[in-house]
Amino acid sequence: MPNEQEFLNALRQCLGDDGMTTPASGDLADLAPCLRDWRGRYVGQPLAIARPRDTGQVAAVVRLCANHGVSLVPQGGNTSLVGGSIPDASGQQLLLKLERLNEVVAVDTANLSMTVQAGCTLAQVQAAAAQAGLLFPLSLASEGSCTIGGNLATNAGGTQVLRYGTARELCLGLEVVTAQGEVWDGLSALRKDNSGYDLRDLFIGSEGTLGVITAATLRLFPQPVGQVTALATCPSLEACVDLLQGARATLDAGLTGFEVMHAWPIALVRQYLPEQARAMAPLVSDAASGQDAPPWTVLIDTAHPASDTVAREALEALLGQAVATGVVLDATVAQNNTQSRAMWALREAIPVAERQEGLMVKHDIAVPTSAIPAFVRTTQAQLAQAFPGSRVVCFGHLGDGNLHYNVQGPPGMPSTTFVAEHEAAVNRLIYDTALQLGGTLSAEHGIGQLKRDELARRKSGVAMGMMRSIKRALDPLNLMNPGRLINSDQDL
Ligand code: FAD
Repeated sequence: MPNEQEFLNALRQCLGDDGMTTPASGDLADLAPCLRDWRGRYVGQPLAIARPRDTGQVAAVVRLCANHGVSLVPQGGNTSLVGGSIPDASGQQLLLKLERLNEVVAVDTANLSMTVQAGCTLAQVQAAAAQAGLLFPLSLASEGSCTIGGNLATNAGGTQVLRYGTARELCLGLEVVTAQGEVWDGLSALRKDNSGYDLRDLFIGSEGTLGVITAATLRLFPQPVGQVTALATCPSLEACVDLLQGARATLDAGLTGFEVMHAWPIALVRQYLPEQARAMAPLVSDAASGQDAPPWTVLIDTAHPASDTVAREALEALLGQAVATGVVLDATVAQNNTQSRAMWALREAIPVAERQEGLMVKHDIAVPTSAIPAFVRTTQAQLAQAFPGSRVVCFGHLGDGNLHYNVQGPPGMPSTTFVAEHEAAVNRLIYDTALQLGGTLSAEHGIGQLKRDELARRKSGVAMGMMRSIKRALDPLNLMNPGRLINSDQDL
């Protein structure tokens, strides 16, 4: 960049010494965590890291970038699983960290809404809602680190989508700094607004490619009084889907979570997180991860607005009936919050155990729930034929038709070798089947760098054309997170 020093001087003037770091001025060990993605696949080198304090400073930084032709990468908690929040290695991109925009601005208990700045962590937002006696139901294993801005930019899903919807459905309004550095105040707290194109929905799920989310107004809910969790083992995926159908019919809106875990990821939790596994020992029998383990374990979460007893009785009746018909082999209903948390800890420990196991070819697919058994049956057979000995770490949000379906090589083969040699072929096989069954290649993690080219190959020409038109219209200089979601160089 011809005017690099001029840009950096102007940035320093705008943000002050404590608001920016350059690789030359900063401690590299300090910077490393925000330049490497959670899965360790991407490492970036920024021109500088900007830490604005408020929306005005974000707007000033974006205007500076527009004037100097500098592209920028917004970053919240850097928990992206698709390399969306890491600058490239050119040393020419600005990393825009939103961490200092971390204020809960207002809670409106009568309107069941709250307004927060984009850099608040999800856990902070949940806690602020709980303090007001209300519930913000978005819930992810990364909630201690990920931010609400990142959640909205990726339209995050998580464990309660079945009952409350994705981040999109939990958002009433947004404040956004546009690619031109203007501030759009769309912080509406309305549930109904039919006044033209829905700009809010354009920015949700846009992964920082259209503008920077600086604040959001969120939808809150009454806190359920009765919340009960259970683990159940099932003989087949078909049985898991039958149980889901029964749970929907009998628990109705009380069904808040329905997660599925194959025996293999449970075994990985036992191997890599033995402390955590010990705490769960009374709830998950050794058989659930041993040689003769039932292949599938389901976690069911149910809530009732007024009564613990009603929630428990409904869940026990459902499971009793399912055991009688052979849909469920064995079941444990949590007796208190500690046991309930331990059941969730098992589910949430899987990505951590899996990370320690090594690199895998990861997928975050969705198909209609009725097609889940066919998806797994078909891909298992294809994988066994194409990659003998390969194993699948399969778990996810069965209630949403969303599986994390991660393929590793045969025992003994280094994970890096398997991924380097076979990633493209494994992806082809998995995505072919998911799309044939009416599914998608990304249910909740987004596209980022990892799935960008796959998206362009798999979405229809009409859909890609409309997406490029939107990108061109809102970010004509292609400075907002370029190369993520859409391959800007070639496609625009
Ligand atoms: P980042 O990783 O910092 O950024 C993600 C993307 O959003 C990037 O493209 C970035 O440029 C953009 N972005 C960030 N902030 C802004 C902003 N303010 N304005 C504009 N663009 C912005 N995801 C799920 O959906 N469901 C899960 O169940 C789930 N479980 C996870 C479990 C673990 C252990 C981990 C590590 C991740 C998990 N994720 C899950 C993925 C991840 O946590 C989510 O994508 C999360 O929403 C990202 O938030 P973040 O603040 O970390 O965003």
